Amino acid sequence: MERIAVFPGSFDPITLGHLDIVERGQTLFDRIIVAIGHNALKSYMFTLEQRMAFLEDTFAGFDGVEIDTYQGLTVDFCKSKGANFILRGLRNPADFEFEKAIAHTNRTLTNREIETVFLLTGSGKSFISSSIVRDVIRNNGNYTFLVPDAVRI
Ligand code: ADP
Repeated sequence: MERIAVFPGSFDPITLGHLDIVERGQTLFDRIIVAIGHNALKSYMFTLEQRMAFLEDTFAGFDGVEIDTYQGLTVDFCKSKGANFILRGLRNPADFEFEKAIAHTNRTLTNREIETVFLLTGSGKSFISSSIVRDVIRNNGNYTFLVPDAVRI
């Protein structure tokens, strides 16, 4: 059976931390669907189109990596794609607590059909987050060492 994982997130914008998780996930999965979960009630720095474009540029030429967007529950999106795995990254204890609750919920919601697989942040990447990137951008700082080349404003 093909191993398909959804890597869900806001990707507002994609960072080198996200890229690292996908690169390492490639050794575990046949296909990875990097999916922007779009929440109409949340406000973003970058539009859905911009975030999609950053992802498409970053992963162009990556074997088995696709880009998509969805609204609603991540597990419903996974089912629609035939994906049995959710890929997530862990940076720190706060991520762990948050992710634990979501992973248990998702597993229960799907009758244990969908497992969440966690990869530890790469060394030197644990401090990178989209929110820090947004802060640096808002304040006209140099953000380029935190994000893939595709993210240029
Ligand atoms: P969300 O809004 O769902 O948290 P993000 O785009 O912020 O979406 O993050 C998506 C996933 O990427 C999460 O699992 C997050 O823990 C992971 N991630 C983000 N930054 C890093 C990083 N520097 N190292 C490892 N994983 C990361």
